[in-house]
Parts: sequence; C-alpha cells; structure tokens
Amino acid sequence: MRWLMRRFALSEAGARELLVGCAACMLQNVALMLPVGLLYSFIMFMLKPQGEVLFYLAGVVVCVVLILASTYFQYNSTYLATYRESGRRRISLAERLRKIPLSFFMKKDLAELTASIMNDCATLETSQSHFLAPLIGSMASTLLIACPLFAVDWRMALAALWVLPVAFGIVGLSAKVQHKFSRSSLTAKTDCEEGIQELLECAKDLRSNNFMHEYTDRLSGKIKRIERVSMSAELGTALFVVSAYLVLRLGIASVALVGAVLYTKGTLSAGVFVMFMLAASRLYDPLEVSLQNLAAVIATRAGAERMNAIFDRPLQTGTEELTNRNYDVEFRHVSFGYDDNEVLHDVSFTAKQGEVTALVGPSGGGKTTVSRLIVRFWDADEGAITIGGMDVRTVEPEALMSLFSIVFQDVTLFNSSVLENIRLGRKGASDDEAIEAGKLANCHEFVERLPQGWDTLIGENGCELSGGERQRISIARAFLKGAPVVLLDEATASLDTENESVIQGALSRLVRGKTVIVIAHRLRTVMGADKVVVLADKGVYESGSPEELLKKRGMFAGMVEKQK
Ligand code: ADP
Ligand code: MG
Repeated sequence: MRWLMRRFALSEAGARELLVGCAACMLQNVALMLPVGLLYSFIMFMLKPQGEVLFYLAGVVVCVVLILASTYFQYNSTYLATYRESGRRRISLAERLRKIPLSFFMKKDLAELTASIMNDCATLETSQSHFLAPLIGSMASTLLIACPLFAVDWRMALAALWVLPVAFGIVGLSAKVQHKFSRSSLTAKTDCEEGIQELLECAKDLRSNNFMHEYTDRLSGKIKRIERVSMSAELGTALFVVSAYLVLRLGIASVALVGAVLYTKGTLSAGVFVMFMLAASRLYDPLEVSLQNLAAVIATRAGAERMNAIFDRPLQTGTEELTNRNYDVEFRHVSFGYDDNEVLHDVSFTAKQGEVTALVGPSGGGKTTVSRLIVRFWDADEGAITIGGMDVRTVEPEALMSLFSIVFQDVTLFNSSVLENIRLGRKGASDDEAIEAGKLANCHEFVERLPQGWDTLIGENGCELSGGERQRISIARAFLKGAPVVLLDEATASLDTENESVIQGALSRLVRGKTVIVIAHRLRTVMGADKVVVLADKGVYESGSPEELLKKRGMFAGMVEKQK
C-alpha cells in the first residue's frame, strides 16, 4: 500500500481504490474465462450424457450475469475512481503549494512547476484508469485461472503458461531502460517548455539585441531533441513489447504441440485437449493488452517521482498566533546560505519601530537576502530573527505575512484594472479605500491620463505602464495594507530623478511610525535614515547613524564619497 502510494503518487484513499480496481479487473477476467469451463463441461456432457440440459442453460445465464456485473464493477472502480483520485491529487497539490516555503517558487523553474502540475496529473490519471488496474488485475486473474488448469492437467497447464514469466521478464528487464528513456524525454520536454516561456517573456530584449535568430535556432534544437528522445524511447519500448508479444503467441502453439503429442500417446483425453485449446485462445488476450500497458505504466514513474518531490518538501512550520510586544525587527547571530555558499555569517542588528533602518553595501553583499529572511522566504540556518521578541519561525505563516508591507524592485502586477491591482494589498478593501491609497502613492497623476481611469486594464504584468508607474501601484498596495513593518528593496533604484522624488514623497508618508527597512543604491536616500547597517563580507561591517558613520570614515563614508 505504502509502495503503491509512493510509486504512483496516490493518496491513501486512491491506493485503496486502486486495489479495489485491480480486484475488479481480475474478477472481470475470471468471469470472461467462465464460458470456457462451461463449454468444457458441455462438451463432456455431449460425449457422455448425464445430468440435466437445464443445468447448462442456467450456467449460461449465470455467466452472462457475472460478466455484466463484473464489467460494471470494473468500470466503476477504475475509471470513476480515477477521476475522484485526480481531483484529490490536484487539490492536495494546491494545498501543499500554498504551505510550501516561498523559496521553492524562486528556485524552481516555473515551467517545470507548471508541467509537473498539469501534465503529470494528466499522465498519472490516464495510466491509472486505462493501464494500471487492468495490468495488475490481469496478472492476478491469470494466476487464478492457472490453478484449475493445473488441477485438470499439469502438463498441459505448463505448456500453456511457461510463456508468461518469459514475456513479463522481457518487459520487466526493459523497465530500467525505459525509465531512463522516459526520464530523459521528460527533461527534454521541460527544457523546451522553459525555452518557449523564456522566448515569450524576453522576446523584446532578445530582438532589440539582435539575439532572436540565435535564440530560435537554439529552441528548434531543443524541439528536435524531444523528437529524437521520444522516438528512441518509443522504439526501445516497441522492441521489447513486440518480442514479449511473440513469446505469448508461442503459448498457443506449445499447447497444440504438447496436446497433440500427449493425445497420440493416449495420455490425454480429447475433452481436456479441446478445453485447453479453448482456454489458450482466451488466456493471453488480457495479458497482451497489459504488456502494452506495462510500458505506459513504467513511463509514469518519472512523473510520479516529480510529484512526490513536491509532496516531500518540508512545509513551512509555525502555528502560533502573533505574540509580539512591538514591531522591532531583530537579527540575532543569523547565518544563512543558499545551498552551500554562506551569504550571511553571524549577523546581528536591530531595526527599531518608528525608525528607518537602511541596509547598504556592495552588490551581492546580502541585503536582499536579509529582507527575504525577515519575511521567511527562507529560514535562517543559525541564529534567530525576531519581531517584537517573537521568533518568526513559530508564527503561523499567514499571520506573519500580515505584518509586512513589501515594495520590491521587481513589481508583479496582474492583468486586471489598476484598482484591482491596488486592492491586492488588502482583500475586501472598498473602492474608495483603494483609490485613497492610490492617491497617497501619487498614482492619480498617471491614472487620470488612462482611458478608463482607475478601471483601466493594465496588460500582462502591467506591460502598458512605465517602471515608475508600476512602482507606485506597488507602493499604493503597501499603503492599503498598512502593515506595521515596511520593507523597501531598492524601491527607487530604477527611476529617474524626477520620478524618484515623487516616490520618495509617497514613501515618506507610507513609513510614518512604522518599522522601516530600506535597501538603497543611492546614498542620498539613506542620509535621512535613523540608522545605517553596512553589509559586507557576509556580516555587519559597521552600523550607526549616518552622521556617526561619516565621522568614522569607514566603508560608508567611502561609498558616499564615491557617489558624489
Ligand atoms: P544584494 O541584495 O546585497 O545585492 P543578495 O542578497 O541579492 O545581495 O545576494 C547575496 C548573495 O547571494 C549573492 O552572492 C547572490 O549571488 C546569492 N544569491 C541571491 N539569491 C540567491 C538564490 N535564490 N539562490 C542562490 N544564491 C543566491
Ligand atoms: Mg539586492
């Protein structure tokens, strides 16, 4: 059961339903075999009349009823169960993604994630409904049918059944090869999907840099690779399956041969011979279909592995309510690295409520990383980050997020109206509140020029707006949210000076009375801060008020000097 759940990325209920489905398929196969037994006894009856004809008529009726019933049961417990299971799988996947640390989405390629969720769900669905249950069911039913065959005549049974282990052995042996094939075709597909997505997203930059040709060439290379890999995967599979088929076909021949020999020797009755011929003509049908399916089932392995990888990700911990005394953000001996490269080592500082704390330092010094740690995109490897004395790791993630207003340099906007994009700051805010926030962020000035004002659609990720306008929408969101801790990561870095002063004005209104952590390129912005923390060499190089640091003539003073 455990194994089934892992191997096919099933829920517990799904695994149970799968077992029922297998049983159903098995019953169906056995039911389909019953007429052979019936025919056999009827032949015996014809040869040596004894008993009642009515008995056989009743037998026919029973057979028909059983076949119909088992077919219905089989349909119900495979197809319908599968659709229930894929519903469950998609829902639990979505639930899971909601609770996984956000870092997951930053590391993973979005293309792979999308592929995983959409394609893998679909592949697992078909393999489960069409292949898996029939496969296991037919193997089980064959074993079941084998018993009476052996009981009737073991020599003939052997002649009929020796092909089974051989055929399945061939396909089984090929499993390893196929697994490799299916995995490489999966990677090839993902690779190509990524390429296409990238092309669509970056078409503008690529074209303006005359890179388009080179890029499309590379992309068609990727597409060719899929073709090649898929073809060799198909070919490899076909080769194994066809040879397994041929072996199965040998079964009938060997029954005929052995039967004929034994019959001429006089150790086999004609009735039994006929019965075995009948049985052999039916015996391999479900298995032939299954052999084909086996390949498909093996191909699901890579998909199931990917699905499991998502389910195996640790969830974000923390269940407690907010217990913070105030909104001071404190780093206590925090060390952190992405993968193995340490980015922060033993970092300690406090950003006080009601003050502006500026993080400065060379590019790559870990400033963005600090802000990501505060909002728990990642967790610190060592040390602790607290807000008002409360460790961020103990708090229920959604409650924690309610504490932050974040304005990052790369603003994400959705293809809906300006107003809806602002409303993202606080679900359920009224139109008036959203417009008010927009005005505070100096949005009205450009919104007035839009054809439908606040209701104008802004295109995919706000592509119809300029960088400064997008930035202001994101500040408006922060206003609307009104959270007590404000994080600004290079919020004004990409703007021209005029825009910057407009946005600076908006920001200074936003941050009043809050804990503000601002990351800035331009040191002019930093001069108004209450405290400056210089991050360099993985740690806090120096900290203090701008005036103190200027007097100290350290790194900060040097940076200011350079920018003048
Ligand atoms: P800053 O914002 O000060 O420029 P960052 O915090 O963005 O610096 O980056 C600090 C270091 O961490 C850099 O060397 C960067 O390459 C690395 N880094 C940043 N983000 C990631 C990530 N998602 N995965 C791996 N390394 C990263
Ligand atoms: Mg940065």
